[in-house]
Amino acid sequence: MLFSELAGYYEKLEAVSSRLAMVDILADLLNKAGKEEVSKVIYITQGVLAPPFEGVEFGMAEKLVEESIAMATGFTKAEVERTYRSKGDMGATAMELRSKSKLKRMSSHSYTVMEVYEHMLKMATTAGHGSKDIKIKMLANLIAAATPVEAKYLAKYPLDELRMGVGDATVLEALSKAATGDRKLKGELENAYNLCSDLGLVGEKLMNGGEQAVRNFRISVFRPIRPALAERLPTAEQILEKMHGIASVEQKYDGFRCQVHKDGRKVRIFSRRLENTTEMFPDLVDAAIQEIGAGSIILDGEAIAFNEDTGEFRPFQETIKRKRKHGIEEKAASLPLHLFAFDILYLNGEDYMKEPYKRRREELEKLLKGNHIIVPSNRIVTTVSKELEGFFERSIEGGLEGIVAKDLESKYKPGAREFSWIKMKRSYKGELSDTIDLVIIGYYRGRGMRSEFQFGGLLGAVYNEKRDLFESVSRIGSGFSEAQMVELREKLDRIKTKAKPARVDSVVEPDFWVTPKYVITVRADEITKSPTHTCGKEKQHDGSEVGYALRFPRLVGEETIRSDKGPEEASTTEEIIEMYNLQKRVKVEG
Ligand code: ATP
Repeated sequence: MLFSELAGYYEKLEAVSSRLAMVDILADLLNKAGKEEVSKVIYITQGVLAPPFEGVEFGMAEKLVEESIAMATGFTKAEVERTYRSKGDMGATAMELRSKSKLKRMSSHSYTVMEVYEHMLKMATTAGHGSKDIKIKMLANLIAAATPVEAKYLAKYPLDELRMGVGDATVLEALSKAATGDRKLKGELENAYNLCSDLGLVGEKLMNGGEQAVRNFRISVFRPIRPALAERLPTAEQILEKMHGIASVEQKYDGFRCQVHKDGRKVRIFSRRLENTTEMFPDLVDAAIQEIGAGSIILDGEAIAFNEDTGEFRPFQETIKRKRKHGIEEKAASLPLHLFAFDILYLNGEDYMKEPYKRRREELEKLLKGNHIIVPSNRIVTTVSKELEGFFERSIEGGLEGIVAKDLESKYKPGAREFSWIKMKRSYKGELSDTIDLVIIGYYRGRGMRSEFQFGGLLGAVYNEKRDLFESVSRIGSGFSEAQMVELREKLDRIKTKAKPARVDSVVEPDFWVTPKYVITVRADEITKSPTHTCGKEKQHDGSEVGYALRFPRLVGEETIRSDKGPEEASTTEEIIEMYNLQKRVKVEG
């Protein structure tokens, strides 16, 4: 496939405003792509070079792309800069200057998708002395041979701006449609995706090996598995009832989720978002080599800083200091971590995810026996709600967040939030007992006192998994420090969109729409029914539509933008409805 054809599809994708239309265009595109091109087309369409866990990044700032455009079009850097400032978008800048350029297209060569991809990959992985200039030239070469529309996407790709607003679920649906004409394979594809976290690989398997290859998909070491997630319930009784009278109740550690993969002496650690965080944890890598005897293994757990002198857990504010790019070894020495392993997914060639929790746990305890750093999470098994409560209280006293109860008979459910794991956190009087993670879909201009920061708050949304859309749930106007307002304004300015993005569902109009990208954490007093927001909206008898909204939401948390969550990992519509129902029940009971 020629890159110009791909750019044509992107033009179509940009022009549509409904997700279903997106699925159709994508399915068509995936069908047209050659078998060896499918994975690359998927990566490019999501604006990446490889699945996130491989950590391949372009490392190109706007200034470099501007220089490439200048070199390729013959305009001066100042002219490129001026056009960029007036357009506010690098793609539009490249397109305009390419079409106005007096330099002829440098060659008559039309690049294929494969050629562009390989060129971009080489560009991204060029490192060391002089690499900046090489990158500029490499991109310039592509743009110089491009048509204006191609130039637009070539300039956006290295800036992480190419993501066509296409979510993982939309790609999976399009793959199903491309292969079978409808959505019937979506479940199977999702399953394969949960086991490898690599959409390109899933697409390649499907288009090359057909449905059977997707059904036979197996986990493998060093490809992260999408993590299982916990549901929530407010009381010990409800938890035990849901788990048929008996539960394993584990302490809930507030630190870094770590999925540890090990084969011989090679170790990789993946985060909640499945990014490769191995570099951040040299102490855990050492411990994995020293303390885990098994040949090849995948463990799931939470790492938390631990005070060796007092034997106490440290709070999250301390643990998070381990998140850094420099001085890693020093910090590892002053703030050692313990990894509380709570699951085993794979061991020496055997897939453990289908085994019941109790067998996985047994194996985990056997394997980690006598360890110091990588130890099993603390837990009790109980049938008595008073005992569960006591364990919860003791966990809180010990500085932890609460507990996670686990169903003894359940499988490990990758990528799913289900009642086989139920979390219970400390509840705050008069407030919702849990925080909510919102995707920013828009923001407001500052008025009055805020005008000097040019920031008047955010429009937040939750993720509707079934619709693969972001539904508005609240405007957030408080909890921001001055520094946070400046930071948000700067970050959001860069991802402003002219119109409401296709995967956003909102009748509330912010001053500016943004690409759904950043996730923030808020605490609210209450969830209320709302005619204004689209979250979970349903038609009423009188024909009006009512959704849900947050009352008095305010920004909380250690980080302004959650680095461990992407838009699809925000709280979901379903969770909001559940929390609304829980809150009603708590109110009635309390
Ligand atoms: P989520 O990860 O469920 O989207 P979140 O990031 O806000 O939500 P919480 O709701 O606080 O996190 O709780 C779930 C997280 O708790 C898990 O993702 C995991 O990182 C952590 N955790 C700590 N201890 C345990 C445990 N014993 N079993 C399972 N998860 C645990």
